[in-house]
Amino acid sequence: MNASEVKNQARALGADLVGIAPRSRWADWPAEHNPCSIMPQCQSVIVLGRKILRGAFRGIEEGTNFGSTYGNFGRGWAEFTFLPRIIYNLACVLESSGAEAVPMSGGTPKGQQNVQLEVKALAQAAGLGSIGKGGFFLTPQYGHRQRLALLLTDLELPGNELNELNLCQDCQACITACPLQAYSCQNGQFTLNRSLCQQCQNGAAAGGDLSCEPLDRLAASCGRACLVALEDKIEERFLHKFRQRAVWQRDLLGHPTVLSANLKGEDK
Ligand code: SF4
Ligand code: SF4
Repeated sequence: MNASEVKNQARALGADLVGIAPRSRWADWPAEHNPCSIMPQCQSVIVLGRKILRGAFRGIEEGTNFGSTYGNFGRGWAEFTFLPRIIYNLACVLESSGAEAVPMSGGTPKGQQNVQLEVKALAQAAGLGSIGKGGFFLTPQYGHRQRLALLLTDLELPGNELNELNLCQDCQACITACPLQAYSCQNGQFTLNRSLCQQCQNGAAAGGDLSCEPLDRLAASCGRACLVALEDKIEERFLHKFRQRAVWQRDLLGHPTVLSANLKGEDK
């Protein structure tokens, strides 16, 4: 199979994003993050993405449903039901053409002798997008709204062109939207106090060790501010703006506040 056939197959199976990171782009990465530590003969990493529906964020945005909207269709089923089927079926197609294919979820549990591949770094090496200021992986198609998984193969394939996005220019909506001030800035670089995020009651949740977002902030105040900030910059457009009413937030003790109508998600 050549690269176009692989990508067409992936899209036919339901992938919304597909990129290839050839060995030359990660061959010198440390062993603990190197695909060759899992598959020594690996020549290419195929990174697949499945978009998260914008509607999956609606229940959290309105503060009225966290589990059966985003919890299922944004996180659990999106990553652990819909996406693995695509990865598995593509692996079957590759293996029926004679290549070996190692399907992997976006995350890897710590310990148990597991080498941990960094899915966002590989997605960047596969030309799908880049990591934004707020720590989200951003693509030109969907912004931060996707789940990612990997397929390692011994098939030698050309890489996608790298995609250095500049979506964060003049923006820090995710940073100002955080009710707990979890971001801090030093020399122009933002870092995140993850222990605050772990206690955040604004839509953040543990994604699980197997997730490409083990600490899932995509639907938290920061992530939804990113969704709002990028809605006119990304390819997928909607009839109506995502933010329809005043923003809610909770402090560390869970006390709620509704901010004055803030339809841009920028200022508090
Ligand atoms: S997850 Fe919560 S605490 Fe962490 S950056 Fe986002 S809004 Fe702030
Ligand atoms: S909200 Fe703005 S600064 Fe933050 S990740 Fe999204 S685009 Fe970048």
